[in-house]
This record gives sequence, structure tokens and C-alpha cells, in this order.
Amino acid sequence: MNINQNYNKLEQSYLFSTIAKKVADFSAANPREKIIRMGIGDVTLPLCDAVVRAMQEAVSDMGKKESFHGYGPEQGYDFLKNAVAGYYAQRGIGLDNNEIFISDGAKSDLGNILDLFAVDNTVLIPDPVYPVYVDTNVMAGRTIVYMDANEENGFLPLPDESVRADIIYLCSPNNPTGAVYSHDALKKWVDYALGNHAILLFDAAYEAFISNSELPRSIYEIKGAEKCAIEFCSLSKTAGFTGTRCGYTIVPMTLEAGGASLNHMWLRRQTTKFNGVPYMVQRGAAAVFSKEGQMQTRAAIDYYKENARLIASAMQKMGIWYTGGENSPYIWLKCPDDMTSWEYFDYLLTEKKVVGTPGAGFGKNGEGFFRLTAFGDRENTAEAVKRLLS
Ligand code: PLP
Repeated sequence: MNINQNYNKLEQSYLFSTIAKKVADFSAANPREKIIRMGIGDVTLPLCDAVVRAMQEAVSDMGKKESFHGYGPEQGYDFLKNAVAGYYAQRGIGLDNNEIFISDGAKSDLGNILDLFAVDNTVLIPDPVYPVYVDTNVMAGRTIVYMDANEENGFLPLPDESVRADIIYLCSPNNPTGAVYSHDALKKWVDYALGNHAILLFDAAYEAFISNSELPRSIYEIKGAEKCAIEFCSLSKTAGFTGTRCGYTIVPMTLEAGGASLNHMWLRRQTTKFNGVPYMVQRGAAAVFSKEGQMQTRAAIDYYKENARLIASAMQKMGIWYTGGENSPYIWLKCPDDMTSWEYFDYLLTEKKVVGTPGAGFGKNGEGFFRLTAFGDRENTAEAVKRLLS
């Protein structure tokens, strides 16, 4: 019996366990101190009314013989695909329902999509980055090349013609840096991918946080992307679905690699290994795209964005360099006084009783940087900002 030895190559992630231990130790030693947590990437506001009602009705459907739903289409019900297509159509992007695949979230799809590509492809991944891109490729045994995201390029690396890659990950708005690519920058990536027969894996999980209409919210706003890009999106941060689980992946019909249709391959993969998202969840997801659902989810996003604005304005007042915060729920800041990420973590915890995430946990270029999130509640965020400024 041989196991997949690539699992031994995975770096142990001590990031969140170390944070938890440091916070627990500090709390035990200082039981009266109120600690404010701004490290989590999870949402805190509940599902909106429109979603709750749609899900309640769907539960009731399931309890009646005439409206019961058993196995559904693996790639999602048409009522939800129509809603997603309508959402893209508002931005002038025409999608066929066959190009939309409903799933239980972006994380699964980001990992599973790798089934479509040979192990000997080279993968290009920005550093720092959402760790799932790296770990899923290490598990498969693929060669990873990193591109530096840093202060000089505003944490938005552009293609380097001297680097050859087959699979390229882009995340905009970015986790952890909150940085957002412009049309021009994404056009460079699309041109690079087309010129090198590479595939872009575009993670748009935070697209709903973009309010600047000049910034692209989908890779398909860039001409040519339909021939080189797959887009992953999620209702987790858009509509509070982190615990409800629903996302969607777009694989254009025009996307070919090695003479094969990636859309057909993904359909084959999903129908073979996945049995679809629960009917109740898909009904709730469809409600996100209703007029009422859009208004209500927008209110939650605006709430988080106001938190982000408060944190970003504190950075400005403190003269700290940062990215994000405007079109993203993350603020990525440069640790003051040349502190390392963990030194700044300890300083914030002990002096300000505020918890964030050390940037070093997201890759080597994250050292010396720090992530604060806007997903907390207003009162705590305002109190944290007050403490930071004191
Ligand atoms: N992509 C990015 C960049 C994320 O930060 C996250 C979650 O934090 C995900 C994908 C996962 O999304 P989902 O909850 O849909 O699996």
C-alpha cells in the first residue's frame, strides 16, 4: 500500500492555532481584558430575510409529496443558474446556463478543478496568497512557481514574460491583501495567458465588495478571457453563506486546452464525483439575486465596508502604509517600526488587546505585514480603531 507521499510535503499551518494559543494564554493571564478579534475571515451578520424565507419555503416544499425534490442536476437547478446569469448580464456579460456550475462553495471548486489538468503542468501563484491554491497543488505534486506581490507592485503582480506557466491563480479583490486589479492589469494577464496557452483561475470570491465602477468584478469583463479563464465565485462573503455553503464556477464553452473542452471535462468531473447542492440551499441562493435579496445583502456588505473604512482611516491617521479597505473587507498593513508580523501581533494583543492575522502566515512576502478584517461588528470595530489610535 502506497499513500500519496505529497501530503508529507505540505507545510504545517500553525497560523491560526498559534494565534488561538497566544490569545488563550493572554486571556488566562488577563481575565478582565476585553479582546477584540479582527483576525477572522468569517462573516458575523446573519442571512438576510429574503434568503431565510426562501429556505423556509423550500424546507416546506421538501415535506410535501408534490413538491419534494430528490437528486437534482449535479451542476445546479436552472432557477439558480438563471439568477446567476442575470447577475452577470447586469454587467454586460452574457453567460449560457451550461457555463454555470453551482457548487457548495469556491474552496471545493478551487481544489477540484485541478482534476482537469495534468500533474506536469507548472503553476504560478502569487505570494502572499489564500493558502488553498498552494496546498491543493502540493497535494497533487505539481511544480509551483511563485510571483512576488509586494509593496513595490502594490501587491498586484503583473506577468513576467520570462516565466513560463500553465496554470495561473489570480484573486481580486485579494485575500489577504485586499488589493484589486484594474482592467488594464487584468488585460495583461489575459494576453499573457492567451500567448502562453495558459489557463487563468480567477477567484472572485470578494467581487461584491468592489464599489468603484472602474474596477472589474469579473475576469470576463476583459476581452479574450472567455478563451483562457475559469472564474470561481462564492456566496460566502457576499451573502453570509459561509455556513450555508453555495458558490458557482464559470467555465466558458469557448475555453479549450490541449484540444479539449474544459467545460465538457468539468461537467464530466462534477457529474461523476458530485451530487449537487441541497435544494433548500439553492432556493436560498437564488433569493440572494432577487431584488429584495440584492438590497438586503448590499446592506450587509455596506456595513462591513464601513468597518473597513474606519480601519483604513485609522491607518491613514497613523501614517501606516496599507492596501485594501476600500473595495475589499481586508486591510493589509505594513507593520510599523520595522516590526515582524508576529512582533506586531504580540504588540497589538498585549498593548491594544486587538487580534489580527500576521501576514507571514500567507507566504514569505507577507513577513512585515499584517491583515485586519472588517467582518466584525461595528461597535467592536470602532472600539478597536479607538485603541489603535490611542
Ligand atoms: N477564495 C478566497 C480568496 C477566500 O478567501 C475564501 C474564503 O475565505 C474562499 C475562496 C472560500 O470560499 P467558500 O466559503 O465559498 O468555500
